[in-house]
Amino acid sequence: MTKAHESIYCIQCCAVKPRAEAELVFRTGFYRTTIPLGRCQICANAERTAGLPVPPQSVERECSSAQLA
Ligand SMILES: [Zn+2]
Repeated sequence: MTKAHESIYCIQCCAVKPRAEAELVFRTGFYRTTIPLGRCQICANAERTAGLPVPPQSVERECSSAQLA
């Protein structure tokens, strides 16, 4: 069972991740009002490698329309 305060919602891969895997946690946004928005280490590493910064807001909007379990 996933506890909200121990999770983050990665705005780049649009998935709920354990807080331990978070590279960055935003303090201003929440997914479904309980899970803090953030970015996982995998996406952070991918961005560093690819050199392609993704605007968080546009990604967030995309994620919001997706149905996630
Ligand atoms: Zn991610």
